Amino acid sequence: MTSEIASVSLPDGERIPKLGQGTWEMGEQPARRAAEIAALRCGVDLGMTLIDTAEMYGDGATESLLAEALAGLREQVFLVSKVYPHNASRRGVIAACEQSLKRLKTDRLDLYLLHWRGSVPLAETVEGFEALRRAGKIRHWGVSNFDTDDMEELLATPGGDACSTNQILYNVARRGAEFDLLPWLAARKMPTMAYSPVDHARLPKRSPLDDIAGARGVSVVQLALAWVLRDHRVFAIPKAGRVEHVRANHLASQLQLDAGELAAIDAYFKPPRGKRPLEML
Ligand code: NAP
Repeated sequence: MTSEIASVSLPDGERIPKLGQGTWEMGEQPARRAAEIAALRCGVDLGMTLIDTAEMYGDGATESLLAEALAGLREQVFLVSKVYPHNASRRGVIAACEQSLKRLKTDRLDLYLLHWRGSVPLAETVEGFEALRRAGKIRHWGVSNFDTDDMEELLATPGGDACSTNQILYNVARRGAEFDLLPWLAARKMPTMAYSPVDHARLPKRSPLDDIAGARGVSVVQLALAWVLRDHRVFAIPKAGRVEHVRANHLASQLQLDAGELAAIDAYFKPPRGKRPLEML
């Protein structure tokens, strides 16, 4: 079953779902494994076919869990993984990708991201990504946790303008990127990939979200996710290890917040009035 989940465009025009699924902390507890696999498969069934992982997660255990969860579903999924900065040399990125592909039991990634900026020169990482792309091992590449000045530097690097997206911490309680980074990316046709869209389940205990969610008959988490998805420049990858949370997140993607609700949220979770350094988890 597919759904009416909206989509965003990558710079090359490929459409991907605005709502996907994260996997951080999955595959680490044997007792949770079956529930996590069921949650991921349910999400794919509901149209949340963009799945984000990383070589870092569970030291590879999360990618192995995904191989099992995606058995028979791989062709429906837009699969994203990330390389550690310390593996992001020209040759290192190729070796790390091969390992991820092996764990994921697939022949290609749809998107491969540099997890955060390290000490390897960006030019080397870009060369590695482009070699992977030419070999058909990855279809797109991008970065994560890059602030505006890092993005400027990347785009000034040979080949850097092939970057597809920047995955950043963005949610109702972490709005700094709205000041400069979100518009900077949008001006270059790069959609922003929002991680921890419900703030890693650490949203404030009391806020205007409570009243709005109560009046709507939804949860605060659903409301916070709908708030992230309100922005046409952004797509989001909430992690949910339970089918009921996946279903709730899918429903949240159908919520449209009105001007009054948005104003009440802005009054408490204030939009940035100046540059704030990009936060990361
Ligand atoms: P998140 O998605 O904001 O929050 C995950 C937490 O919210 C989990 O505890 C989950 O519980 C809970 N949750 C999800 N849906 C819910 C619902 N409908 N009702 C109640 N609780 C709900 O945080 P995140 O995992 O940090 O971020 C999402 C993904 O972004 C990660 O999994 C990862 O793929 C990516 N990420 C990337 C970076 C980076 O540096 N690039 C950093 C952080 C995260 P259950 O699991 O129990 O369902």
